[in-house]
Amino acid sequence: MKTFSVFDLPIHLSDDYEGWLCDRIYHNIGTHVVTMNSEMAMMAQKNNDLKQYIQNADLVVPDGSGVVLYLRQRGQKQKRVAGIELAESLVKRLGQKGKENPICFYGAAVGVTDKAAKKFQALIPDIYIINNHGFLQGDDLQAWCEKIKQVQPKLILVGLGVPRQEEWIVNHRHLAPNAVWIGVGGSFDIWGG
Ligand code: UDP
Repeated sequence: MKTFSVFDLPIHLSDDYEGWLCDRIYHNIGTHVVTMNSEMAMMAQKNNDLKQYIQNADLVVPDGSGVVLYLRQRGQKQKRVAGIELAESLVKRLGQKGKENPICFYGAAVGVTDKAAKKFQALIPDIYIINNHGFLQGDDLQAWCEKIKQVQPKLILVGLGVPRQEEWIVNHRHLAPNAVWIGVGGSFDIWGG
């Protein structure tokens, strides 16, 4: 996919990120997706670890009007892609196939991903979601990692905030090496609210 550099950070240019990601899922190609807005781009200038996570991601989508404006001013006609909309669309699409496409929601305060999962279940009865909150520690966190390993979700949404979620994905993607992993910030709070 064509890339454009924004302050040393890659942005992938496309008009069909969803199709590209579905193809990766179909072919079992593990993928780390970063949805980048200007705050994240600024944070990465001061946080070298975050910069590396973004540089090594398989897909960086322009989430945020600042990034899109930056691209347009440099002649790149790229549409903004809201990370939450991309994630929601993938959840709905994969969810249709039930247990064939397990989905994982991880993050936010206690109870929030329960509500978010129920909301999707009401729309798509067959959807198969495993979920947990984002404040697990010790044995609970260990057990959650084991569950991810056992279930092998096709899509894993991690909402721990930036840069924690990017770091978590990089350090844990070996648990489900064929999954599409996306850092979704506060999306669970919106779906579960
Ligand atoms: N969060 C979490 N575990 C933590 C710290 C934060 O699950 O240890 C969650 C928090 O409850 C919220 C999300 O991470 O749901 C951060 O949302 P925010 O909108 O701040 O994300 P960002 O702006 O960083 O994308």
